[in-house]
Amino acid sequence: MSDLTAEKKTNEIKSGSPAKETRRSTVQKTLIMRTLREMNCHASAGMVYEEIHKNYPDISRATVFRVLANAAEDGDLLRLKLAEADDRFDITKHPHCHITCRRCGYVCDIETPDDLPRRLVGLVDDAGGFKAEKYHLELMGVCPDCAAKEAASDEQSAETGD
Ligand SMILES: [Zn+2]
Ligand SMILES: [Zn+2]
Repeated sequence: MSDLTAEKKTNEIKSGSPAKETRRSTVQKTLIMRTLREMNCHASAGMVYEEIHKNYPDISRATVFRVLANAAEDGDLLRLKLAEADDRFDITKHPHCHITCRRCGYVCDIETPDDLPRRLVGLVDDAGGFKAEKYHLELMGVCPDCAAKEAASDEQSAETGD
């Protein structure tokens, strides 16, 4: 009787491990996706990790990076390759443009008119030869916070005569 119980337990552990592993990674993915959504700022993997680490110190940096990369590959979110900042992750999946602050790296959505992709593709057709397959449009600028800081430091240097 006790032998049987022991055998049953061993089988449970053997067959239970992969399921447990899947469950754990599903929980991690849910948490990581929720954090990205709550941050609402096109966070980089490093930024998501910093945020998660505050409440869940057991989740490793490698896990956060892997889950985000896999989610992007699976089409659950967009991975933005930006000109002057780390890759960012975006929960908004429909086509839209971005503007990046050149000072702090903050990335903001710009809602794009529905016909913009078609019009851009039309321009490519006119340029000849190319077949456009996807588009990503990124503008660079200064966010309101950084613009205010720049204005304040300009004023200061004007006062001190620098
Ligand atoms: Zn800024
Ligand atoms: Zn976006």
